[in-house]
Amino acid sequence: RLYNQVQDLKGSIRVYCRVRPCLSGQLNYLSSVQHIEDGIITIGTPSKNGKGHRSFSFNKVFGPSATQAEVFSDMQPLIRSVLDGYNVCIFAYGQTGSGKTYTMSGPKELAEKSRGVNYRALSDLFLIADQRKETFLYEVSVQMIEIYNEQVRDLLVTDGTNRRLEIRNSSHKGLSVPDANLVSVSSTSDIIDLMNLGQRNRAVGATALNDRSSRSHSCLTVHVQGRDLTSGTSIRGCMHLVDLAGSERVDKSEATGERLKEAQHINKSLSALGDVISSLAQKNPHIPYRNSKLTQLLQDSLGGQAKTLMFVHIGPEVDAIGETLSTLKFAERVA
Ligand code: ADP
Ligand code: MG
Repeated sequence: RLYNQVQDLKGSIRVYCRVRPCLSGQLNYLSSVQHIEDGIITIGTPSKNGKGHRSFSFNKVFGPSATQAEVFSDMQPLIRSVLDGYNVCIFAYGQTGSGKTYTMSGPKELAEKSRGVNYRALSDLFLIADQRKETFLYEVSVQMIEIYNEQVRDLLVTDGTNRRLEIRNSSHKGLSVPDANLVSVSSTSDIIDLMNLGQRNRAVGATALNDRSSRSHSCLTVHVQGRDLTSGTSIRGCMHLVDLAGSERVDKSEATGERLKEAQHINKSLSALGDVISSLAQKNPHIPYRNSKLTQLLQDSLGGQAKTLMFVHIGPEVDAIGETLSTLKFAERVA
């Protein structure tokens, strides 16, 4: 309880961690995750018997057997607050392969039970909007954009164009990217169509060796407008669901050309995000939003009354322990 109060005082920033299961399906594999209990995760090399183990504390830690439904149910109150006019940001952070896209979108072969946060969030909003329909009239619309090499592009184009878009901070009708397609949605089948379109557009320009999705940030923005049918007043809420670029450090001695440029852009924007969130958590008077396109895009939904969830992802493999520790240290800085 005291811990929750401390969190409230720090503003509305929460940090969750999710551990991906081992992909090879081995039952007795060695894991770098030694223990998970009450929001505390302990990482170490199995052979070292407790020596050099390090623990990290978060609002919530989901182990490898956590289901999509369990993960979503913990985020549900946050998502529902959008209908009451709050702005919300949810980030999936972690190295490539740690499960960010699995959490946000779900795996490639989509069964109902494996659907991710994006789909569940929207269908939940529809459900509540319907329950409130005697007193409130809601309109839900979405945008989907990608930030690649500090350039913003629309993922909801149908004509294959790939125009660069501008971010406007003098929020035009509450939209920070007013020129990106804004599509009104009212059913779960609308959501599936849009996600498929976004997915297809994100794959453009990617080859097998060049999986662009791991080196760009993708952001699904949900805009909600509600009108109170008795008083006539309206409210506006907005939610950004962000699948961040992979946080792995690229070996500078090996990366050259395009790969090095990508790595530098990712590095810069992820550290700008970390700086903004930790400045907010520490209640600094100056929040450095201007240092990256990502933080400019999300400016209205980070800080103030807005609610933020940083969702960090790690894999259990022992050979990734270096990246795992650096992911958890990044998260610890904002927790
Ligand atoms: P990222 O987006 O961080 O690069 P992915 O979400 O693509 O990682 O996950 C990498 C692989 O691991 C995918 O094949 C994905 O389906 C699988 N995976 C990730 N998280 C889980 C999970 N919680 N349960 C089962 N499989 C998972
Ligand atoms: Mg991914």
